Amino acid sequence: MPFSEFVGNPETIHRLREMLARNRFPHAVILCGAHGSGKYTLALMLARAMNCLEQSCTDGTGGTDGLPDFCGRCSNCTRIAQAEDLDARFAEAVEARENLRDTDRKETRLFVQTHPDVLIIPPDPPQLMIKVDQVRHVIETIYYRPAEARERVYIFTSSAFMKEAANSLLKVLEEPPEFATIFLLAENPGELLPTIRSRSMTFSLGALAFTEIESRLAQLRPDWNPRQRALVARLSEGAMGRALSFDLESYVAARNHALVMLKSALGAGDHTELFKVTETYRSGAEGREKIENLLRNLYSLLEDLMFLQSGAARLVRNTDILGELKKMSEAANFAWVQRAADGLGEVERGLRRNLLRSLSLDAFATALERVS
Ligand SMILES: [Zn+2]
Repeated sequence: MPFSEFVGNPETIHRLREMLARNRFPHAVILCGAHGSGKYTLALMLARAMNCLEQSCTDGTGGTDGLPDFCGRCSNCTRIAQAEDLDARFAEAVEARENLRDTDRKETRLFVQTHPDVLIIPPDPPQLMIKVDQVRHVIETIYYRPAEARERVYIFTSSAFMKEAANSLLKVLEEPPEFATIFLLAENPGELLPTIRSRSMTFSLGALAFTEIESRLAQLRPDWNPRQRALVARLSEGAMGRALSFDLESYVAARNHALVMLKSALGAGDHTELFKVTETYRSGAEGREKIENLLRNLYSLLEDLMFLQSGAARLVRNTDILGELKKMSEAANFAWVQRAADGLGEVERGLRRNLLRSLSLDAFATALERVS
């Protein structure tokens, strides 16, 4: 899986590979971008390009652009690639720690490692912060020459450092060894100490156009039909990773509920269907995500109705149900949409006060009827 498979941000990728080619790769790199923008995917690709045993650009079998690439087949590439599914490796590491004796568990910090010279440092639960013992482990190993790779690679997958951990990291960045590279992945680089930022080089992964995501999904998710791909592309906020892991089924289920509620409010009359939907919103912790999902959907549909009301149909995100939305938009007016949005704010406040969820939702929908 060479660099050509990385979606978007071609200039950034080009610059990073050029620095590899010139042997000028910085010792510390901050990769920043939204959740799902490809920071981790890119860091692992660079780790492979640094350590591939048959660099395709030099042997002429690939890398047609003459810049460093990786084969994806050699023992370094394949072992590093085993870390690609970070969620799965992270869950395994957490489980392994759970199975330790009490005393050992307290002293064990989380790491993901599928290659002896490439260490991935995730935020340590339950606080989900990078802890000082994790950075200490980095310091203990980073000054040894790599065993099977050319370059030792460390990937911190979060910028949430405990204070002491950040200070320890700073010491490494002041005197990094020749043969090591540290990647810091950050959704918001402002979370990192200014002194860490000034010792690193920052690269940003910007949001992609939805048309670009849509066309990649056509290759990568043939199980979705074109309307579904268009919808997911618009909902993933420019992040390819979000698009690929998008849970379309739960989205559509929550949206159907939201549609029933809004249509009931617009049509008035029979409430059977409305009550059937709202009674599934129960109290308790598990129900929380479900209702939050519903509220997000209601907001998103209201936003689309707002776009239609103001003649900006091209901004509508729920494109797969455009016809339905247009009909609803004709039945509503701008003031109604505004009132509905206010009503949702009321439901949210009720949630915080632990009001019965089904009743709050009924009240929301029926209150909108009177004046519609
Ligand atoms: Zn390789």
